[in-house]
Amino acid sequence: MGTILEQVGSRAVIQGNDGILIVDGDSCITCGLCEPECPEHAIYMEEGGVQVGPYWTNKFNEFNLVVQMCTGCGECVGACPVNALTSGSEPGGGSGGTYVPGSGSSSGSPGGPSNAAPSSIHNNVPKPCVAAAVEAMKGTGNNALLSGKMAQIISNFATNLSININIQGGTTADGRPGNTMNQSLSADGKYSATIVLNTEGGSFDGASEEYISAVIIHEIIHAYLSYLTLTGANTINNNNHTTLADKYVRPMSNWLRDTYGITDAEATALAWSGLADAPGYINSDSFEYGLLGQTMSKSTLADLYSQFRVGFKGKTGCSF
Ligand code: SF4
Ligand code: SF4
Ligand SMILES: [Zn+2]
Repeated sequence: MGTILEQVGSRAVIQGNDGILIVDGDSCITCGLCEPECPEHAIYMEEGGVQVGPYWTNKFNEFNLVVQMCTGCGECVGACPVNALTSGSEPGGGSGGTYVPGSGSSSGSPGGPSNAAPSSIHNNVPKPCVAAAVEAMKGTGNNALLSGKMAQIISNFATNLSININIQGGTTADGRPGNTMNQSLSADGKYSATIVLNTEGGSFDGASEEYISAVIIHEIIHAYLSYLTLTGANTINNNNHTTLADKYVRPMSNWLRDTYGITDAEATALAWSGLADAPGYINSDSFEYGLLGQTMSKSTLADLYSQFRVGFKGKTGCSF
């Protein structure tokens, strides 16, 4: 039977019979991917969820954890795309370690150093239509991490990140719509990456803003995974579309749905764009969307995606 060892703000440390689970509510984006992983059914997603015994819930009151039912087994940890769940503790180390109150720093979200340089996003895309879509996502000014739509995405992953992203146009080596390159981590902890959009290779001719956004989010997640690798937080190959397909389609589609007011099916189709080489796409004929577990066929998904790609759906298409 689990008990809360410590709770500070939305961060809770739960001790179960098998180990310790640390939940970082500020990082949780309420995607629900952890829910089916819990063998105890201790996690449930519900807006305004009813309290069942001692429990912990995040700020949106959608992620609910029935603390009494949590054994601290850690099965849920790997499902979380934003590292909001961690098992074990420091300095105990690993599942079942001894937790020293106040000592844990293992909230999953990788924070930058407290004196980190300010973050910035630079829009260097020459094609006016694509540049306008990037600007709409980025917000005004280079310090847009404080305000723009991209900031919402990035802050889902890391609230305290010192980051410098340059977005530019050009051609990508493999003809993909986007490429993330030049990832580096400086001595003072600042992460830099360049996102190249294939504006000269025709990837965005006629595209809707929603499609351009989906490509940029995809690249931001590549950048995030490479950041985790550079900081030693994981060993995921940032070019690994398997990881994007398995863990990030839901967060991407939720964001696209909420930002552009499109349907779950449309947002899910957009989130799958660029992942056609992932086993999760190749080996599936039916794709889940929405909270009720509806499914659509691969051809429906491809059709929805294509309509955003060429501007039949979505905000004003790019015509060159
Ligand atoms: S640690 Fe185990 S029991 Fe607790 S919520 Fe995660 S999966 Fe469920
Ligand atoms: S998987 Fe992570 S982000 Fe998604 S609901 Fe669970 S804790 Fe929140
Ligand atoms: Zn990719």
